[in-house]
Amino acid sequence: MTTASSGPVSLPVGTGRAFNFSAGPGVLPEDVLNRAREDLLDLFGTGVGILEHSHRGKAYDRVLEEAIADARSLASIPDDFEVMFVQGGATTQCFQIPMAFLPDGGTADYFETGKWAKDSIHEAERYGGVHLAFSGAESRFGELPQGGDVSRVSYSSGPAYVHYTSNNTIMGTEWHELPPTPPGDAFFVCDASSDIFSRPIDVSPYGLIYAGGQKNLGPAGTVLVIARKDVLERQVRELPWMLDYRLIAQKQSRFNTPPTFGVYLIGQTFKWIIENGGLEGMRAHNERKAKIIYDTLDASGFYTPHARVQDRSLMNVTFKTPSEDLDKRFIAEGESQGLRYLGGHRSIGGMRASVYNAMPVEGAEALASFLREFERTHG
Ligand code: PMP
Repeated sequence: MTTASSGPVSLPVGTGRAFNFSAGPGVLPEDVLNRAREDLLDLFGTGVGILEHSHRGKAYDRVLEEAIADARSLASIPDDFEVMFVQGGATTQCFQIPMAFLPDGGTADYFETGKWAKDSIHEAERYGGVHLAFSGAESRFGELPQGGDVSRVSYSSGPAYVHYTSNNTIMGTEWHELPPTPPGDAFFVCDASSDIFSRPIDVSPYGLIYAGGQKNLGPAGTVLVIARKDVLERQVRELPWMLDYRLIAQKQSRFNTPPTFGVYLIGQTFKWIIENGGLEGMRAHNERKAKIIYDTLDASGFYTPHARVQDRSLMNVTFKTPSEDLDKRFIAEGESQGLRYLGGHRSIGGMRASVYNAMPVEGAEALASFLREFERTHG
């Protein structure tokens, strides 16, 4: 992306677009948005736009087939896994998963690592027992039990599954390794909403991975689900059609009229990732951006990052200035300079810079120079 100097920060030139640090819906690749603009009017030279094609027609067949094939090639997803697109946001997965896999009288293990994990726990408790394998409440969810801290994890004796959130969007913590192997024949369920495809992933240890679209993939509402076929057969109760993963898989994610535009856009994002070095390329790109921002925070005596160093997220960088008043000024001055949506989630306050795959390096550099400038003038 070309940039120009505008005060202390550089903004993308000529596009009228700001650097968007929103946690979600968040920044999407400009190439994808430009492509979508064309395909809204005419997809594949059919004279009919993507929003207007039947979900049973040949054009949508191609959209869906390519999206699934590209997801499979990106993450080397083997044939014994289904790749599905479902509706209702990631929040629907919070109840759909225990409805499907947590038997009456059974237990599922959950890592309580932030608000979204807590929502999942709340919903699971409607269907069965929940055992907390770990709670980060004491550290205000600034820590995860990884690295030297795995001894803080304790599983129950026979959970149906183990649920964890790979990246905690609000707190700015991220797992950099897998949690300890689940006991017995339990499988991992992972909420990867805010770091899906930001780095290489080996799906084989998982039973089910889900990710809401609006961060690294595409529009809100459409959810990517990657699930092991034999795990789907473990469904413990009859579910309404729309929630039955087996039926969703059997009907190729179009039991009813699916969110065709969401699937299309996610598919275009997969192509963009492939063209930009695949998941290894994303990892290098995301590590570079995160380093630019964290190095600036660490070099300052003014800002306090929220997450413990080894648990820091590459996707959501959370930090504070010395006072709430200065936080507010930071956010307002950032906005006026084209650094949009730097406010932290209302539950923890402060600031949060979300630097998903589509955030260019220039966005991280612009934020770093704004951090230094703000400290110089207000520190
Ligand atoms: N899980 C995580 C990790 C999230 O960040 C979010 C949304 N920010 C959700 C779940 C909920 O997603 P949705 O709003 O799509 O239901």
